[in-house]
Amino acid sequence: MVESHYPFIIIGGSITAYSAIKTFREFDKDTRILLVSGEDRLPYKRTKINKHIIRGFDKEEFRLADEKWYAQNNVDLLLDWVVNLNPDDKTISTKGKHQFTFGRLLIATGATSVIPQISGLTLNEYHKVQNAIDVEKLIATSKEAHAFLIIGAGVEGIETADQLVRKGKKVVIVNRLPHPMQKLFPASITDILKTEMKKKEVEFIGGINISSVHKNQKGRYEVVIKGQSYVFDALVACAGAIPNITLATEAGLETDRGIVVNKWLQTSHPHIYAAGDVSQHPGGYISGLWHAAEYQGKIVAQNVNNYYMKFEAPPFRLKTEVFNLFLFSAAYESVIPDEMEIINEEAGDVQRIFYFKDDKLKAAVMINDGERAKTYQLALMEEWSLEKIKNKIPLQPPMAFSFSPSK
Ligand SMILES: Cc1cc2nc3c(=O)[nH]c(=O)nc-3n(C[C@H](O)[C@H](O)[C@H](O)COP(=O)(O)OP(=O)(O)OC[C@H]3O[C@@H](n4cnc5c(N)ncnc54)[C@H](O)[C@@H]3O)c2cc1C
Repeated sequence: MVESHYPFIIIGGSITAYSAIKTFREFDKDTRILLVSGEDRLPYKRTKINKHIIRGFDKEEFRLADEKWYAQNNVDLLLDWVVNLNPDDKTISTKGKHQFTFGRLLIATGATSVIPQISGLTLNEYHKVQNAIDVEKLIATSKEAHAFLIIGAGVEGIETADQLVRKGKKVVIVNRLPHPMQKLFPASITDILKTEMKKKEVEFIGGINISSVHKNQKGRYEVVIKGQSYVFDALVACAGAIPNITLATEAGLETDRGIVVNKWLQTSHPHIYAAGDVSQHPGGYISGLWHAAEYQGKIVAQNVNNYYMKFEAPPFRLKTEVFNLFLFSAAYESVIPDEMEIINEEAGDVQRIFYFKDDKLKAAVMINDGERAKTYQLALMEEWSLEKIKNKIPLQPPMAFSFSPSK
């Protein structure tokens, strides 16, 4: 039953919300919680959707939990869009004309795809990979379309390219920055990625902003890139994501690039929290990773239950498997080359680069050592010294290949 007052309401159904609910129940089994989620399905593992373009997925497939779990946890789940928040009388209103009051509120509205401004195109000409429904549309298009232009070579763009090319499609990726995944990896690793993409005939064009596209009479997209003409059947915007702050801004909460929060993840209203991709932390940090959102949800649930805990971001990692490579990056954005000791090691197809300050591991990137990724993550969390790394995760030489001719 949906009630009109809830001690705790969460807006936005994804990992922040799920993690907040799970943690909340460790402290309090009974208080009813309302989760208002704007998508057409139960909260799901967003990280999976663009990695399953080839085979597709069912609506229920990547669910974080089924209906029973929400019922068992005293959570009323409403699939609706929150259109208004009034912090003074602690009220939210939804598109479906529901109104609720809250004791504490968590805004976990995440982020949404940036759509590039390109003359000649309307917003609905672009495919996106933000939500499951977006990827379902892309999968439907890919049944007929052959040539794809992907705009943006961050991790979502590269993963989408990997899937499309494995589906037999022709893919060109353009990127504002000169290298793919440049914010996550140094050139020595992005060069390997470029080589692997080239082997699969993916054309990567870096350092470019497309300013105009012509849609011809056949509905195909004609583009001139660096003096060369291309024709595409479909366009995919993977140009990053921006926090969904409209609700908070209109409510008069302090916002900047994200919703501004203090170290307890409270917004400028003490009873309203923001966490996950939507929140902007002291110093300007905005996370954009699954485990970072999960951790923040946990912290909000503790703070709502008066177990005050500060958010001090541990180094969350990104890992991905694309173009036959395993790529791992953690805290690379915090690297200040002049102030750090950099250890670069290679053996066979494995390459890893560690960044130390005062012999404490502060950041790491790695390629093709996926089986030990968890140990790399632990090394970062515990700030291992170089010696400890050499002992615990020695660089394994490539397997010697011996050949004994049979008699
Ligand atoms: C395709 C893709 C692949 C990714 N892969 C990785 C990966 O491999 N590893 C990794 O660490 N991270 C990855 N990420 C990032 C990761 O998914 C996010 O960091 C994480 O999902 C953030 O969780 P969140 O809870 O903050 O919000 P989100 O997951 O963004 O969800 C927010 C939810 O709130 C809803 N909402 C927004 N406004 C309203 C409103 N007014 N009313 C009701 N509902 C609302 C949205 O519709 C959405 O359902 C990926 C992201 C995408 C898009």
